[in-house]
Amino acid sequence: MTSLDVIGRSHREAPVLRYDPNRDELAALLDGEPRYRVDQVWAGIHERGEEIDDLTNLPKALRARLTDELPLALTPEVESISDDGATVKWLWRLHDGHKIETVLMHYDDRTTVCVSSQAGCAMACGFCATGQSGFDRHLSVGEIVEQIVRARRQSAPRRVSNIVFMGMGEPFANYDRTWAAVERINKDLGIGARHITISTVGVVPGIERLAEEDLPVNLAVSLHVANDRDRDELVPLNKRYPLDRLHEACRRYLDAKNRRLSFEWALIDGVNDRDSDVDELADYARSLRAHINLIPLNPTPGYLTRGTPLDRVYAFRDALNDRGANATVRRTRGTEIDAACGQLRASRQLVDPPKRR
Ligand code: SAH
Repeated sequence: MTSLDVIGRSHREAPVLRYDPNRDELAALLDGEPRYRVDQVWAGIHERGEEIDDLTNLPKALRARLTDELPLALTPEVESISDDGATVKWLWRLHDGHKIETVLMHYDDRTTVCVSSQAGCAMACGFCATGQSGFDRHLSVGEIVEQIVRARRQSAPRRVSNIVFMGMGEPFANYDRTWAAVERINKDLGIGARHITISTVGVVPGIERLAEEDLPVNLAVSLHVANDRDRDELVPLNKRYPLDRLHEACRRYLDAKNRRLSFEWALIDGVNDRDSDVDELADYARSLRAHINLIPLNPTPGYLTRGTPLDRVYAFRDALNDRGANATVRRTRGTEIDAACGQLRASRQLVDPPKRR
């Protein structure tokens, strides 16, 4: 039996990646070593985010073995810097060739990492670059956690303070691995639950499970439309979990957690920026005391309708605030380098088309 078999996977299946094992699994992998090695390795790669070779408290042979048996998950395909260094975006290649994105964003008062939870996405929202190209597979815990470790290294000496699950994929379609990653991010990478936000398109069972968890993370729901007829069109999952069920789940989460809920609303010209949208959204959000993030739509190759012009974005915000809803405008980062919302991968695929499966 090799040490990899101990944690329940064979060489033929997906490899065990550096941040996949939990502490017990790492201990099994280090069976035969002194007990304190587990703490040394665990703290070294998580709390300090070091490369195995820099763990100089380990014997050289053990470092070589760990480097070999616990390979890194992410190979940089593109690393692009924009906004005068305030935004760094990676397109990573995974061991099986799939691509995912991670973004590091520095603001005056915080530094945020936006992570992916899946390669691709099955939710098929028409305006979203990831949705347009379909689902590849779930990410493992290690593939999620490593995105943050790698971004944190780049960010130093600025500390990463916030994590948002707003990269590729639907986190609640990959609930167990996403949640295991959240716990690791909180306990071992030291980022407070109140600084972690999970964004969902409205997977009601996921919201219900979140309400039962111990860690009070923030919930963001990608609403985009607040009537069922139009939302069925724009966000196909609405047919399965319509707005009244979504409302109930959000209410349950609020009652359980007493955390602020936010709604994301990508403003699309003539589609969801009408007077009727203001009324519907204000009613829906007010009844849940939700904060509304308005995002001017980022253009994507597969969706030709343009974003709402900026002056109307601000007018839409003002109209919501006049109706007693709490709305702000979020300007997207990295648009000049195709770095918003899955575009890096989408634009690379135009150059280098993927093989059809
Ligand atoms: N699947 C999750 C998280 C990933 S998307 C969710 O839907 O919430 C993160 C956010 O980016 C979502 O609010 C999504 O609707 C938004 N988004 C996707 N494509 C966009 C685009 N082209 N312009 C603006 N926002 C977009």
